[in-house]
Amino acid sequence: MDSVACRCCDLLQRVPPLPRGGKARCVRCGQLLATRPADPLDAPLALTIAAAIAFAVANATPMLRLSAEGREAQTTLPGGALAMWQAGSELTALAVAFCAVVAPACHLALLLAVLLAVRRPPAPPWVGVAMRWLERVRPWAMTEVLLLGVLVALTKIAQLASVAPGPGLFALLAVVLLVPAIATTFDADLVWRRIAWADARAQVRA
Ligand SMILES: [Zn+2]
Repeated sequence: MDSVACRCCDLLQRVPPLPRGGKARCVRCGQLLATRPADPLDAPLALTIAAAIAFAVANATPMLRLSAEGREAQTTLPGGALAMWQAGSELTALAVAFCAVVAPACHLALLLAVLLAVRRPPAPPWVGVAMRWLERVRPWAMTEVLLLGVLVALTKIAQLASVAPGPGLFALLAVVLLVPAIATTFDADLVWRRIAWADARAQVRA
């Protein structure tokens, strides 16, 4: 049995081996301590592949189509960041490109690499490095903030011009819905247990 400190109240307690789909809560405060997803490898992999495809579509197809006084314009997500750079808002353009394109792309690529590598244990030690990077990158992947911003802009611009949402916006919505679904099915403990460390004492148990 593993000893785990509660993240909420610091109580150290033993978590028994959980059945598939089981959850363990803190005896003192009820904080969720551990979960064992019902399908810890195939479900997050399928969801990550779906999110990667949706993310590619979100970047390659127009987010919005504007038309006013006979003129039409449309833009993609990277195109929007580029236009911002050319308009003189270099810092904002960099922030948008990083949080909306680079960080989510790294997040999904790392997830995909980790999930494919742990399918056949023992997984190579670089998976551990990838897992740490995954935790660093995740807070910067702000697709949901971007979606909210685009929707706010959509309603604001709608007063000035006729705006139609493009396929990129729906693809972005799919990414925003898929990412939390990946997080709930992803079993980080299982991944860590499957990594073959250079230290031979660390056993592969799963
Ligand atoms: Zn607690």
